[in-house]
Amino acid sequence: MMTETLVLQAPAKINLSLDITGKRTDGYHTLRSVFQTVGIFDTLTITKTEPDMPLTLTCNVPDVPADARNLVWKAAAKLLGDQPCGAAIHLEKRIPSQAGMGGGSSDCAAALKGIRKLFGLPVNDAELKEIAVSLGADVPFFLTGGTVLCEGIGEIMTPLKPMPERLLVIAKGTEGVSTPEGYRRLDQLAVQPAPATDGVLEALYGDAQTLFAACGNAFDAVTDLAEVRQIRAIMRENGVKPVLSGSGAAVFGGCGNPEQAEQLRDALRSAGLPFAEICKTV
Ligand code: ATP
Repeated sequence: MMTETLVLQAPAKINLSLDITGKRTDGYHTLRSVFQTVGIFDTLTITKTEPDMPLTLTCNVPDVPADARNLVWKAAAKLLGDQPCGAAIHLEKRIPSQAGMGGGSSDCAAALKGIRKLFGLPVNDAELKEIAVSLGADVPFFLTGGTVLCEGIGEIMTPLKPMPERLLVIAKGTEGVSTPEGYRRLDQLAVQPAPATDGVLEALYGDAQTLFAACGNAFDAVTDLAEVRQIRAIMRENGVKPVLSGSGAAVFGGCGNPEQAEQLRDALRSAGLPFAEICKTV
């Protein structure tokens, strides 16, 4: 049998803005957020095997479950059946977990697109989007990526004209955050953080400095992990405004030029932070 393999790049995302606009009666918070894919990628390699061979999934990171708990496996199960067969998938992780960078969701979207293509499945884009919604709130965003305004509980997506390429540094410590705990803390705040989305929308296509000054995230007000504070301090020392991505614990900062970005990344690494990377918006 001829081996057929697909290699897919699954990008991370940041939230240029993230406002919490309310809470529904069912307990879900509503938000307004500009999502943007960035050039840090996981790689998925999907290989067709004998049709009756059970699915195998391997991953370079031991902490990430390489079984039915993995969103890549869940994607395969949706398209190939509950006992998925006929594929071997390797996942090479570079996007940190519990970061607010959407790594698992992006892998999931890449798996949906890749498996559909490799097996020539008769699933149209609308059907693939339905499946994506059932697998996680951020998965539909990653089917297309780019610059997207997300509202509602994240399900109302308005694609925007892609923003110009911008330079960023993203860093994360070893600790992750609990998203439910973040929401609980936000609910307890007497005064809600100032919204950032309108400012970001206005500044998206202008100069980089104005855009990055407008970025903001409600979770910034309730996240005080030691490593997050350390990252914020180093970014500020380097003239960069730190902003949390998603509910954290990754922090990004927009840079004016490559020299500033390199200096900042090196300072973060020298401070012992396990993840500090330069990337561009994609
Ligand atoms: P988000 O940005 O959507 O909040 P996150 O920052 O919490 O995501 P993820 O990498 O998406 O980080 O994964 C969080 C958890 O999901 C992990 O701790 C892991 O147990 C589980 N998980 C399931 N599938 C994956 C995957 N493909 N990659 C990483 N984690 C996965």
